[in-house]
Amino acid sequence: MDITKKRLTLFSAILFGVIGLGVFFRYGLNFKLGRSSHSSFNFENPALYTKDDIVPFLVLGSGPASLSAALYGARTKVRTVVLKGSQPGGQLTGTSYVENWPAIRKIRGPEVMKDFEEQAARFGAQMVSDSATEVDLTKWPYLVKTEEGKELRVFSIFVGTGAKPRYLGIPGEQTYWGRGVTTCAICDAPYHKGDNVVVIGGGDSAVEEALELSSYAKEVRMLVRSDVMRASPSMIERLDQCDNVKIVYNTALTQINGESGKVGSVEVINTKTKEKTHWDNIKGVFLAIGHLPNTKLFNNQIATDATGYIKLKGRRQETSVPGVFAAGDVSDPRYKQAGVAAGDGIKAGLDAVWWLSEIGYNGHVAEKLEPYFFEPEMGKHVKVAHVNSETEYNKVVQDAGDKLIILDFYTQFCPSCMSMMPVIEWVGTKLKDKVIFLKVDASIAFDLVKKFKAPKVPHFVAIKHNEVVARSGQVMNRAQMLSFVKKYSN
Ligand code: NDP
Repeated sequence: MDITKKRLTLFSAILFGVIGLGVFFRYGLNFKLGRSSHSSFNFENPALYTKDDIVPFLVLGSGPASLSAALYGARTKVRTVVLKGSQPGGQLTGTSYVENWPAIRKIRGPEVMKDFEEQAARFGAQMVSDSATEVDLTKWPYLVKTEEGKELRVFSIFVGTGAKPRYLGIPGEQTYWGRGVTTCAICDAPYHKGDNVVVIGGGDSAVEEALELSSYAKEVRMLVRSDVMRASPSMIERLDQCDNVKIVYNTALTQINGESGKVGSVEVINTKTKEKTHWDNIKGVFLAIGHLPNTKLFNNQIATDATGYIKLKGRRQETSVPGVFAAGDVSDPRYKQAGVAAGDGIKAGLDAVWWLSEIGYNGHVAEKLEPYFFEPEMGKHVKVAHVNSETEYNKVVQDAGDKLIILDFYTQFCPSCMSMMPVIEWVGTKLKDKVIFLKVDASIAFDLVKKFKAPKVPHFVAIKHNEVVARSGQVMNRAQMLSFVKKYSN
């Protein structure tokens, strides 16, 4: 072999090596993470035109990121469906006032989310009160199964599943959960009139909890584990106006003790001196120690960082799976602001629309696929009636016959109460011959709260032949509520 031939062979070996590595990283890694290859994005495939329930752009979640993505999807006339998820409206529905929404001085969290939804719906986004329970991203169209049993075939997905509160993992936390331990002051503060309570955390959420509680509790102690608070100065300033809020630095909660089945006292430790103290007569523990991303649904299918946040590609909102985009708290460990989530949601909506167009989705294809599109069953669920007084309740009982009545005690600003609304509508429709659900606004119907001893919200009281047969303070999914009703309605 002469020297030129040798060089040529070496060069070819290096070239094939590089190409081989490239192919491995593009497709080998894709396979590992369950990605499809672009060659499978084929709108000519006759198999596409055989089954119903196609969704061109599916949005998972209904917080600011999701509804902004939906707005941009729907506005460009791509058929867009929003699965609202287990907390419709997302975390802002549990926020009293938003004061940092650009161009709006002050607005209630739930109000701004209502506007988000109405605007996206006005452009044609279809809102569905259901949650994704299983996702298969290994084949395209992607498969998404829902809690109500639907199986959707999806071309492009936006993941806006947000984040859930973090817990401390200390003794007593789970035992007294819902019995004094909670993450929602806006829901439970009214039940702590004249009590001593503690708030754990030093961020904006903790300040919000303390402010809400200060109107009801005798004393609110904020436990900050270090000697600095993470909350913004403007939020901390608001605390100065509350005489009954005390910030206790360098202090961590180590145990929650009970008294008559509810929170009664706590153990704390000074994180600097390690001195331990018992605090008596504490009736409420409000956790506000940050959040963790909701990414369990996509385990081993979408690349995440070590904490579980979805990784994005550069300045785009694309995930490791082609056609799957994300924004908001599920992918943003840094900013965690509704405004940033909305902006990134817009980027994701545009990214999805552009991506669909790149793979050949256009008006002509949409027209051909129209008969196979998923059609949400809008308005087919029974409407749940409200009772606002004992007199109104008595009227329903008179006509209930053998039916089980379930009183759902709620307040308007309680996110877990709101998450139960689609559940009771669905179960109420499925078992309409057996059960009557009645909503009771605990901030209005004081006589019913007293009569049925509702200790907090949400709270369900099951009544048969005018007798209380069961009660529960659990947030339930559809299957759990279905079995609760079946158990007591027979
Ligand atoms: P943050 O991450 O900002 O703060 C969490 C707080 O909890 C910190 O003080 C942290 O302490 C503390 N903490 C964490 N783990 C523990 C633990 N194991 N034990 C004791 N303390 C602990 O979370 P937030 O939920 O407060 O805020 C999230 C984002 O949402 C922020 O960007 C915030 O600005 C925003 N937000 C804005 C609001 C508004 O503008 N109205 C309202 C609420 C939130 P440490 O500092 O030592 O880590």
